Amino acid sequence: MAPTASHRVLVTDYAWPNLNNEREALGKIGAELVAASTGEEQELQALAPQADAILTNWKPVSAKTIAKATRCLIISRYGVGVDNIDVEAATGHGIVVTNVPDYCMDEVSTEAMALLLCGARRIMVYDRQIRAGGWDMRTGLPFPRLWGLTLGIIGFGRIGRAVAPKAQAFGLRVIACDPYIDRQEMVKRSVTPTDLDTLLRESDFITLHVPLTPETNKMIGEKTLAKMKPTAWLINTARGGVVDTEALSLALKQGRIAGAGLDVMPQEPPAAEDPLRSLPNVVMTPHSAFYSEGSLQELQAKAVKRIVDVFSGKTPEHIINPAVLKQDNCRLKGR
Ligand code: NAD
Repeated sequence: MAPTASHRVLVTDYAWPNLNNEREALGKIGAELVAASTGEEQELQALAPQADAILTNWKPVSAKTIAKATRCLIISRYGVGVDNIDVEAATGHGIVVTNVPDYCMDEVSTEAMALLLCGARRIMVYDRQIRAGGWDMRTGLPFPRLWGLTLGIIGFGRIGRAVAPKAQAFGLRVIACDPYIDRQEMVKRSVTPTDLDTLLRESDFITLHVPLTPETNKMIGEKTLAKMKPTAWLINTARGGVVDTEALSLALKQGRIAGAGLDVMPQEPPAAEDPLRSLPNVVMTPHSAFYSEGSLQELQAKAVKRIVDVFSGKTPEHIINPAVLKQDNCRLKGR
């Protein structure tokens, strides 16, 4: 099927200044782009019937929106996780859902290390103190030498694997837990495979790199936090829902763990009164781990390419719900 100007791509939301890169790529095949102004449910439902494809960053693409998207062939997520899309509903309607799993491994692994180092060297404690007029190194003491401490990586996929050599370069012993991969993937990187309980007990730093699934939802909560060392730091650049943040706040306030570095929260932005915003032993970033100029360009290009491929009669890469391709109602059939 030759692409025509009648192809419309609905962009629910985006976190960067403009859509010039997307517009250029779609313009080359004569497709046009419609950017939602609020991305809220009602607006998306109103725009969905005209959409041949949906590009989405964070706004929920609900079952109701999907039901109204009767021409839509593909929902392409700008990013790795697809938890903002009702994938089951999309599958039911024969719509493929794609993601971009391979664009920011360097950025997120570096962010995990940055949060870890910030905690290890008490950077945020000192920075806040100096801004408040102080200059006293005793406020951050004591803290151990980093070299020789243990980092536990939970989830040894693309990003977890990228963290390992960076941590090893700082002299950290790296252990990891991921029941779904061949342990040789760890061994060949000089990472010690272990189970979750041992990792929780032995680690001085724990960094999370699992997807948010029913199994990983709040996997770090009261019980798992209780197994961590009182001197340990928790780093989360994965998904906010992986951590029970109420249990985390309590553990941090009571000194049951030493600190936390968080790029993601269950609710973003977190409520103004969320204690994690003001605890001295917490360092936070606003879900910015994925970002660098380079990774953003890669993200935009790859997310749009999935749609360009579909409009050009090809099967896109990184389909989250490949079963849809075998369904009778698959909308990619008979294009
Ligand atoms: P990936 O799919 O490559 O790796 C995830 C790994 O987790 C897999 O190896 C899987 O086997 C493992 N896993 C699943 N359930 C597990 C469990 N219960 N215990 C241990 N391991 C388990 O994903 P990735 O690209 O490495 O991304 C990891 C996380 O980072 C995702 O949650 C993703 O959404 C998030 N992420 C965040 C940002 C950001 O800006 N903060 C950017 C990109 C990705």
